[in-house]
Amino acid sequence: MGGTFDPIHHGHLVAASEVAHRFGLQRVIFTPTGVPWHKDRPATPGEDRYLMTVIATAADTRFEVSRVDIDREGPTYTVDTLRDLQEQFATHHPGQPAEWFFITGADALAEIVGWHDPDGIIDRAHLVGVTRPGHQLTDPGLPGGVVTLIEIPALAISSSDIRARVREDTPIDYLVPEGVARWIRKKRLYRKEAL
Ligand code: NAP
Repeated sequence: MGGTFDPIHHGHLVAASEVAHRFGLQRVIFTPTGVPWHKDRPATPGEDRYLMTVIATAADTRFEVSRVDIDREGPTYTVDTLRDLQEQFATHHPGQPAEWFFITGADALAEIVGWHDPDGIIDRAHLVGVTRPGHQLTDPGLPGGVVTLIEIPALAISSSDIRARVREDTPIDYLVPEGVARWIRKKRLYRKEAL
């Protein structure tokens, strides 16, 4: 499951759980992006986004967090994410077959034809785009069968709303896991002076 996770929230966790259930996935590996090259604002340091993702997923045995995108130099390309995860899996589980899915926001996935090596991505994984309620599901224009779009009501929560709430001193309780809220407070993330 790819995302900037700035910060991770309960919508992401519900989406991961729902997709795992629908596709019978054994594991969901969260991959916080490294340098989100397509952003018009500087993202929070990768280490903070990675640690918040670890805190948020710690209690669920199906969930893991990978550093592949955080640790790779240069812009984060999904084809590299999938290649690195698949190479790691092959090293640790030699000869074991695996079916791969790349889960992310449907908005982000709608742009995939403009991403680096979209054919390489499609070759490596089935794509799952999750979206918030009421949002028009956009077909990314890919060949039939390579992408599944799923509406997740809990995605009414959004990272940009959480950042705005912190900036305006509005509560974020119950929108993010308690430990994530504490990390945001401790590191003074998303405050006015941090912008
Ligand atoms: P984004 O533009 O920050 O997010 C677009 C929308 O999708 C937002 O509404 C966001 O909501 C939602 N979203 C993002 N990730 C989500 C997730 N895992 N679950 C549910 N909703 C999600 O997108 P991004 O986070 O930068 O990129 C998403 C993924 O696509 C990352 O893994 C990134 O590396 C990859 N990507 C790859 C390329 C490429 O290969 N060239 C280009 C762009 C993106 P929230 O803000 O609430 O999360």
